[in-house]
Amino acid sequence: MGPLPLGATIGILGDGQLGRMLSQAASRLGFRVAIFGPEAESPAAAVSAVSVVGGYRDEAALKAFAGQCDVITLEFENIPVETVDFLTGLGKVVAPSSRALGITQDRVNEKTFARSNGVDTVDFATIDAETDIAPALERLGAPALLKTRREGYDGKGQVWVKSADEAASAWAAIGGKPAILEARADFVREISVVAARGHDGAVKAFPIGENHHVGGILSTTTAPADVPDALHAEAHDIARKVLNGLDYVGVLAVELFVLKSGGLLLNEIAPRVHNSGHWTQEGCVCDQFEQHMRAVAGWPLGDVTARCRIEMTNLLGDDILSWPALAAEPNARLHVYGKAEPRPGRKMGHINRILS
Ligand code: AMP
Repeated sequence: MGPLPLGATIGILGDGQLGRMLSQAASRLGFRVAIFGPEAESPAAAVSAVSVVGGYRDEAALKAFAGQCDVITLEFENIPVETVDFLTGLGKVVAPSSRALGITQDRVNEKTFARSNGVDTVDFATIDAETDIAPALERLGAPALLKTRREGYDGKGQVWVKSADEAASAWAAIGGKPAILEARADFVREISVVAARGHDGAVKAFPIGENHHVGGILSTTTAPADVPDALHAEAHDIARKVLNGLDYVGVLAVELFVLKSGGLLLNEIAPRVHNSGHWTQEGCVCDQFEQHMRAVAGWPLGDVTARCRIEMTNLLGDDILSWPALAAEPNARLHVYGKAEPRPGRKMGHINRILS
């Protein structure tokens, strides 16, 4: 795809904070943005030229949206594959593709894909029924982590299984849905690579970030992470294999476990801009949001060089009420998502603090 001209319209499926920051980056580059999502008043619609409200299976609304877009992307990984296929069928370029979504929406497909592309993961078993749990636990060793195959995020839909006696309660806890049982990763650190691939196959990866989770939700990312050069190179190599294997266009994030031995295991692929890449807004010459828009628009990928070290902290729920103090901090930038209600655990904003 040739470069989109200035003033062209980029459509985004999804209307949350990631859509908002993508839209802001696109408008800086001179594009118009059309948002498609279920809410009339959303973080993304509030900052965009066009907003089409509808469900992701509402073909009439999708058609009206597509009619206004020169290219379409997404900010939410659980957009149905059929939605992307419908838009592609209307002759629209959608990036990333429905194939990339189909693989990354399902934890078994994702790990199978990773392994077949030379990327290591934890050992795992496919769980279709409660009776699959005991033999899988025997093979993988206890404790092991039972996760729904689809639609888990921020540690939701996951439960540790410590013995075969817990099979029934664990199966009930995840709602008796198709699942994966994962061997426990004996990791010492969690890192992620945010990287982009263009329509022309060009790849650029940001410096890696080190992530700290609290209660299953990302709390802070520190980047560039203080890791040996060899590990940095290996993490970038994994991101490249994933991007090329998916024939991906846009930005994605690869979450990795660093083992005691120094080896890396892929935990998860997020086919979108990612919370662990927010640090790039103040930390890099071109941030992840602009990078995604450049990739989707067929523009040259931007410069991913780090300008400084950043600690990104998520502002969850009532954390946002401290905005006057946060806004007064030197060497820091506050990002607020414009959500009305600060419910517990809800991502309301983040702050990027410059460390050095
Ligand atoms: P996920 O939703 O897969 O990203 O998992 C959420 C968090 O649970 C991860 O960031 C890890 O801290 C932890 N976790 C996930 N999978 C494993 C595993 N196989 N072994 C140990 N910890 C895990």
